[in-house]
Amino acid sequence: MQKGYDVIVVGGGHAGCEACTASARVGAKTLLVTHHIKTIGDMSCNPAIGGLGKGTLVREIDALDGVMGRVIDKAGLQFRMLNASKGPAVQGPRAQADKTLYMKYMQEELKNYPNLTLKEGAVEDLVFKDGKISGVLVDGKAIYAKCIILTTGTFLNGVMHIGREQTKGGRFGEPACYGITPALEKLGLTIGRLKTGTPARLDKNTIDWSKCQRQDGDNPPKPFSFMTGDFAPDQIPCWITHTTPETHKIILDNLDRAPLYDGQIQSVGPRYCPSIETKLVRFSGRDSHHIFLEPETYNGNSIYPNGISTSVPKDVQESFIRSIPGLENVKILRYAYAIEYDYVDPREMKLTLETKKVPNLYLAGQINGTTGYEEAAGQGLLAGVNAGLKALGKRKKLIMDRADSYLGVMIDDITTLGVDEPYRLFTSRAEYRLTMRADNADLRLTELGIKVGCVGKERAKKFRAKKRALEKARAFVQTLHKTPKQLKSMGFQVNVDGHNRRPLDLLAYPNVKWADVVRVFPELSNIKPEVAEQLEIEGIYQGYLTRQSLDILAFKKEEALLIPEDFDYKKVGGLSNEIVERLEQTRPATIGAMSRMRGITPASVTAVIGYLKGK
Ligand code: FAD
Repeated sequence: MQKGYDVIVVGGGHAGCEACTASARVGAKTLLVTHHIKTIGDMSCNPAIGGLGKGTLVREIDALDGVMGRVIDKAGLQFRMLNASKGPAVQGPRAQADKTLYMKYMQEELKNYPNLTLKEGAVEDLVFKDGKISGVLVDGKAIYAKCIILTTGTFLNGVMHIGREQTKGGRFGEPACYGITPALEKLGLTIGRLKTGTPARLDKNTIDWSKCQRQDGDNPPKPFSFMTGDFAPDQIPCWITHTTPETHKIILDNLDRAPLYDGQIQSVGPRYCPSIETKLVRFSGRDSHHIFLEPETYNGNSIYPNGISTSVPKDVQESFIRSIPGLENVKILRYAYAIEYDYVDPREMKLTLETKKVPNLYLAGQINGTTGYEEAAGQGLLAGVNAGLKALGKRKKLIMDRADSYLGVMIDDITTLGVDEPYRLFTSRAEYRLTMRADNADLRLTELGIKVGCVGKERAKKFRAKKRALEKARAFVQTLHKTPKQLKSMGFQVNVDGHNRRPLDLLAYPNVKWADVVRVFPELSNIKPEVAEQLEIEGIYQGYLTRQSLDILAFKKEEALLIPEDFDYKKVGGLSNEIVERLEQTRPATIGAMSRMRGITPASVTAVIGYLKGK
């Protein structure tokens, strides 16, 4: 092997930022190659991080010492906990970002990261030596590394659409990449094509805000990162308006000029983030749709109208946008567009995000058929840790499963089922939501991160201090109790049944909060808020959490039944040719993953288990 880097990461988007920092954190000498250093961390679409499911994923990335959570805490202009009135299992932190600050802080982070070098340039091809991947071709020159991670987002053969106008490019104002798709095809990887879209950007000074409804951030706001200390960001409002019957009429009257409906765009877009024209066709009974007007920066003019992504022609955009209350005289700063791009079938990937066919080649982010910054960042972190460890010759791997994290749910979903539309994470995709909450991401994952070496000393120290305080507090609450009579005299509606109640028992009663428990047991008033939060949740969900931990044990048992990578399914009696073909294409890593594949019958699962056990 020629002298070079341990790992090269291609792409400075959300997957790339996590991939290069994670690889560098585990000790690998890492190079990030990206088109422009000044666009590192750019938000191609909505200026926001987090949301339901996605917000929990950002906390998980943070728990593994990733960068996204810390950067958005510095760059956020509004913070909200979604579903705050519901239980912690379905809550999701979300922040509106100042997108220029987000890029600035992300670039600062990467420029100062130990073991990491940044290089501007376009990667045109992959480089091989003795039949093995050994580097990338950047502006005509080979750069070598033991492992390569591609995080090229929407740039592979990207084509942008505004009405009949078609422009080649990776996103607005940036060139596409043409060399990588043929290189991947030559390696035998299955390539597909997907589509996504973004709305127009509007001039803040031309909006009549009096016609819009104001939406403020939380007070007090909660940060994303477990490392963020005092947190008092300046917050500014977002606003809500809505489409009207006139808006709908203008769009529907022009459907024959919409690339999504005139046959110009053939590929599939994100079902849960549809364009406005798709929403009108799909939900034809609705006469109005919400539009969130989100500032892209603190001080700039640009407003992102969340909810009206489209690719209809410019004149149709002008007229339908001006039919929306508050936007009658709006100036459009940039027109909406859709983009089609190549992606790799994620069933080509192992759980480490290394490709099965090409050892030492890893893929992460939108290139794997997902959509969203958080999904990309989570994959980037996982690929970065695993590529870094492999390049250093270590046997450890970071493998997540459906019971430990949303990251595990996503990796299992895409590598087992593949994608037929851009994949987005939701809480409903996770079976163990009660256990996998945003508040306890560190308790679920930081220890694992310490073991594989991707968590730095400072976080490890802070985490262990919190864990010790939690264990101490858990033991302490067990020593306290009150009789039913004492509790009744303090206003608690408990049965006088002779059983004393401990602090956490009280939390199982409706509407009892930690503050009420502290009123009864003042000895608890010194417990730190972050520890109290955990005790409160554990108390409220005691019974359910115990039941879920039994389900998780059963799940883990199936996950522990590994299927060898080169397993010969043809040798298993009773499997149809179609099932053998599916299994050979996906090569599930475990019996659990096999049973979750489409078209796999319980009988074939039993047959493979029987064969593996030598029956
Ligand atoms: P990107 O953020 O796209 O970053 C790719 C990086 O790779 C860039 O830095 C680029 O310069 C670099 N690069 C690419 N090729 C090369 C090369 N050959 N050499 C060097 N550098 C290279 N997500 C949503 O969740 N909802 C949406 O509604 C949505 N709409 C979108 C609309 C549009 C028009 C676009 C472009 C994206 C949209 N997204 C949306 C997707 C979101 O932007 C991505 O999911 C996310 O940014 C993916 O992160 P990534 O790191 O995989 O890729």
